[in-house]
Amino acid sequence: MANMVIDAPLGIVPRWARNLVRRVLKDYGSEIPLMEIRWRTNKRRFHTTGTSCTLVHSGVWVVTITQGTDLQDCRWALLHELAHVLVGLNDTHSRAFHRFAFAMYPQYDLSPGFSIWREANSRFAMPAAEDLGYYRIAARLRWLFDNDGYNGWDYKAQLWGLKHVY
Ligand SMILES: [Zn+2]
Repeated sequence: MANMVIDAPLGIVPRWARNLVRRVLKDYGSEIPLMEIRWRTNKRRFHTTGTSCTLVHSGVWVVTITQGTDLQDCRWALLHELAHVLVGLNDTHSRAFHRFAFAMYPQYDLSPGFSIWREANSRFAMPAAEDLGYYRIAARLRWLFDNDGYNGWDYKAQLWGLKHVY
């Protein structure tokens, strides 16, 4: 039975994040195992980092989010970790994982341009994007890699160029 435990033990999960998790649980509910969300914030960072893993003894999933200042980036991180929970441990950052994630994000108002760019460091992200028909975004990212000296952590600068590409 799908379930979740939140607010444990680091900090309060923001309302928007709680609602987003509830939506995903509702949409994918029967497939989501027991899960705990741990939340903290870092106001000096633009981007959000996230991890997900299962506890050895109980098998409970633990998703840990360290929220940065950019809300879109934080939404992406939370959804990305939820995608890991849904896909399972055997498919971490595989082509199948990225296909699943890129198909999932737009249902929760995250643009393909942003999310594909955000995962572009991952080896199978672009082939997965092309599997789903996002040829223009993949071509634009490949151009950035080849010509601009892609800097995966220079978010604001490159975000501006890709935010509106669909
Ligand atoms: Zn990941």
